[in-house]
Amino acid sequence: MIYDHIIVKYGELSLKGKNRHHFVNQLRDTIKRKLKPYEGVTVKKAFDRMVIELHGADHEPIVEKLQEIFGIQGLTLAVKCDLELETIQKTALEALRQAGPTVKTFKVSTKRNYKQYPHDSQELNHLIGGYVLKNSEDIKVDVHHPDVEIKVEIKPEATYISCIDYPGAGGLPIGSSGKVMLMLSGGIDSPVAGYLTMKRGIRVEMVHFHSPPFTSDRARQKVEDLTQVLTKYGGTIKMHVVPFTDVQKAIKKQIPDNYSMTIMRRYMLRITEKLAAQNDALAIATGESLGQVASQTLSSMNTINEVTNLPIIRPLITMDKIEIMEISRKIGTYDISIRPYEDCCTVFLPSAPKTKPRREKANRFEQYMEIDTLVEEAVNNTETVHFKEVTEARDNAFEDLF
Ligand code: ATP
Ligand code: MG
Repeated sequence: MIYDHIIVKYGELSLKGKNRHHFVNQLRDTIKRKLKPYEGVTVKKAFDRMVIELHGADHEPIVEKLQEIFGIQGLTLAVKCDLELETIQKTALEALRQAGPTVKTFKVSTKRNYKQYPHDSQELNHLIGGYVLKNSEDIKVDVHHPDVEIKVEIKPEATYISCIDYPGAGGLPIGSSGKVMLMLSGGIDSPVAGYLTMKRGIRVEMVHFHSPPFTSDRARQKVEDLTQVLTKYGGTIKMHVVPFTDVQKAIKKQIPDNYSMTIMRRYMLRITEKLAAQNDALAIATGESLGQVASQTLSSMNTINEVTNLPIIRPLITMDKIEIMEISRKIGTYDISIRPYEDCCTVFLPSAPKTKPRREKANRFEQYMEIDTLVEEAVNNTETVHFKEVTEARDNAFEDLF
């Protein structure tokens, strides 16, 4: 491979005005942390992008790592060479060859930041394109829809040539949009909701409701494993495990079966709201998707939502199950989510919850409950665990376990 650089481009960051500097530094720190296992690889900040010098390292695993980082729009493999026309021509030809055997058409696009260079960009396009044509077979120029665009950048200190691009994760760097409490179950949806929330730069803290002995350690393990996977995108993540057994027992005793699910969700929100206040989070995120199950009708959301005035972020609200599953496979949570487990909801809940619960009824059923005490006890006994992103070496060890 002649490619010795990866150029990191960060789209939307440029919109962020005076905080831009802060976000770029944050992004650089994340990149450095991710690439720590790759000795010799260095990261440099340029005006509108970051340049990673590979120093002989294989680019593939590094590109994969970089694709986990929010705030990166795209990645480009590049090779640096000097400013001699002949070197540029030869390097461009080699770069194109390495783009693969299926390439049939190309074009050259030159950008000349170094205005004193003896040829202008039009001339350079011709000089480089002509050389490539003369020295390769079976390949043509197509200026409108080329298989590959050879991009040549002439800078005062060097030339950068690139023709292989990868998409980045997009979004904004984690931490640039504040913090949210994510209600994380062991299902398919909430981890995806977490990923999408983080994508917009939001740091998440997990809240999981656990009802021992009705839900097992295995169920908890599942949520821990999901959180561990999400650290790939979010860095260190705090997880709050809320003991929920007493609340559920009280509901079982005092609430008619067809409202127990609605009331249970109201408790979950009340508790999450308290944890949000304790941890400086300004909103709550869930994996709800409209119409999926009885708890996810508009009437149901309306009645559940009554107990909090924090914004509730529901990134999946309009998505189909198939779309959600696709994302969950892509981000690596699907296989964990489909492990069998008992959810605190499924253990206690009736088979036919009300699909159109009403606020007045929920309030009426709740009036004999010790709401404040139940909420306070759950919050006071919540256990908080920290999850850190695992490094390369541990990642491999982890895979061996399965
Ligand atoms: P998921 O696939 O995320 O479990 P779901 O389709 O099973 O979602 P519900 O069971 O109705 O839907 O849950 C809706 C949302 O409520 C979940 O996405 C999650 O945000 C939250 N939630 C449900 N159970 C728990 C739990 N035990 N702990 C924390 N949050 C939960
Ligand atoms: Mg679920």
